[in-house]
Amino acid sequence: MNNEEKTLVLIKPDGVKRGLIGQIIARIEQRGLKIVSLEMVWARPEQVDNHYPKSREWIERIGQKTAENYEKYGLDLKKELGLEDPYQIGLEVRKWLIEYMTSGPMVKAVVSGNHAIEMIRQLAGSTMPAQAQIGTIRGDFSIDDAARANREKRAIRNIIHASETPEEAANELNLWASAEDVFDYHLPAEEVM
Ligand code: GDP
Ligand code: MG
Repeated sequence: MNNEEKTLVLIKPDGVKRGLIGQIIARIEQRGLKIVSLEMVWARPEQVDNHYPKSREWIERIGQKTAENYEKYGLDLKKELGLEDPYQIGLEVRKWLIEYMTSGPMVKAVVSGNHAIEMIRQLAGSTMPAQAQIGTIRGDFSIDDAARANREKRAIRNIIHASETPEEAANELNLWASAEDVFDYHLPAEEVM
């Protein structure tokens, strides 16, 4: 397969608690992608801390995005958070993410297939469920949005994590998936897809 890629999927604690494991896995299989590793894990805070990038660039990006959402929804950033600097806001969101991702068990899957990284991002849909397309996992199963999440000082509950880029996928697979738990096998459907 030419563009064969591996990517990491985490069904986040809200997805597990809402009983969506089966439906999410079914959508991945239906698309023709191959599950090559599958396990339930209750992450420790250090694991989640290592999962999200620690670069200044990523932290500022997420802080900037969060700040824009505060403004868009008419929330007073300074009053609500006491912060204005994108980097400081990004650090705060990172803390919310650690709380969220350790609030219950997750299901961790390694998915392989043609353009698997982009395919899974498409299946997942936009980060903000309220804006995600119908037909995507986030669009079909959630109405959470940044305004509510920011007001409640928590991460947006959007059911699933999926690696965004080949670099992210490589780091995340390295962190979450040991080689002996990833299985290479053949799907008969690969012949006809
Ligand atoms: P993803 O790759 O689509 O999950 O999105 P990002 O990598 O940009 O963000 C990581 C996670 O941080 C998201 O899945 C959300 O749970 C959370 N998040 C992102 N942006 C915001 C925001 O503006 N406010 C809040 N409260 N959480 C956010
Ligand atoms: Mg991301």
